[in-house]
Amino acid sequence: MPRAFWIPAALALTLTTAALAAEAAAPPRHVAVRAGRLLDGSDAKPIRDAVILIEGDRITAVGPGLAIPAGYEVVDLSRSTVLPGLIDCHTHITSQSGNYYEDLFRRSPIDEAVMAHVYARRTLEAGFTTVRNVGAREFIDVALRDAINRGDVVGPRMLVATLAVGSTGGHNDLTGFSPYLRFEGFSGIADGVDEIRKLIRVEVKRGADLIKVMATAGVLSEEGSVGAPQYSQEEMNAVVQEAAMWGKKVAAHAHGAEGIKRAARAGVASIEHGGMIDEEGVHLLKERGIYLVPDIYTDEYILAEADHLGLPQKMIEKEKELRKNQLVNWRRAIDAGVKLAFGTDAGVYPHGQNAKQFHSLLALGLTPRQVIRMATVNAADLLGWSDRVGTVAPGRYADLIAVDGDPLADVTELERVRFVMKGGAVVKDQGKR
Ligand SMILES: [Zn+2]
Repeated sequence: MPRAFWIPAALALTLTTAALAAEAAAPPRHVAVRAGRLLDGSDAKPIRDAVILIEGDRITAVGPGLAIPAGYEVVDLSRSTVLPGLIDCHTHITSQSGNYYEDLFRRSPIDEAVMAHVYARRTLEAGFTTVRNVGAREFIDVALRDAINRGDVVGPRMLVATLAVGSTGGHNDLTGFSPYLRFEGFSGIADGVDEIRKLIRVEVKRGADLIKVMATAGVLSEEGSVGAPQYSQEEMNAVVQEAAMWGKKVAAHAHGAEGIKRAARAGVASIEHGGMIDEEGVHLLKERGIYLVPDIYTDEYILAEADHLGLPQKMIEKEKELRKNQLVNWRRAIDAGVKLAFGTDAGVYPHGQNAKQFHSLLALGLTPRQVIRMATVNAADLLGWSDRVGTVAPGRYADLIAVDGDPLADVTELERVRFVMKGGAVVKDQGKR
């Protein structure tokens, strides 16, 4: 090797080390946010004229009228209501429904990968600073999460499930077409304990933060019913046990009563949808502290937009079937004290409209305070991230949003988020200040 090669390499190394040292030595940014009214995510009364002190990406102090130390940059939101960044526990941020057959036959995962960063930015700018992404093709969610974490792409904090795990012929499989029609790509289909364990190991190896399982049939697929169970109890147990071995929680897509109960008995962290839950299922969720994630806005959207989405009639019928008793069943779970988290199935409807579900949830008899709690404190608890997001408190990430009015009086205020800060950095500011 010629000696000359080594000199620039050594020099480069020295420069890199120096640059890193300079970066480490740079003092963290100090920011003080003045909040006219602060809803901190707890059940406490709103704090008037609050001051939030931020060092780097974390909150260091919060309180009414705190003195702002010298050298702090001030963000004045004294005419606004400030809340913790919102959390959506059920997104599909890498894709968005257009026309059913167009999406299926003319778009590929490459199109999804190209568009994903656009949806990520829209979601963040809508005030959702954290999402739990419960299903994406080809590990696009892992790549997106990593690009966001590197700072290459603007988007929310993400926990990702990678490929949803489902049975042959189930909600996760493509059914209703010629047996000769096949799509290439990574498969989330697994049958039996061994295949399930293997698939989960591959997903963890490829970067999954949690596991998503299809415990029952669903609406937007052509298999027989909307709610039939699609894994045996033994298979559901394998999903949860294998995930737990790797320190991962499980989110279960489940509409029908039997599938909900199998998932609950297996020990999943959350039941997604859950619209056909029965008395016994309610009891199991309550007893085991399992979250229910009722995505009410998507149902409204699917029925309103069915024509434009070009959905097969079968799917529309399934959606109608589901809605018959859904509100009553969810209400029963709420009355029993089942824990609720906010999740919308974003991607079925256009990304960035996530906050529209707050108003929809009022139909379940919930108050604005309760639905805000679902998307902050409760969501953070479901994610296992209570130590970093979901409240405005010392030690948490400085993820903040602001709206003009009072969301406790009119929860649709959250559809008009004017200001978004993630990790101490302002990502949107449309204030009239
Ligand atoms: Zn979903």
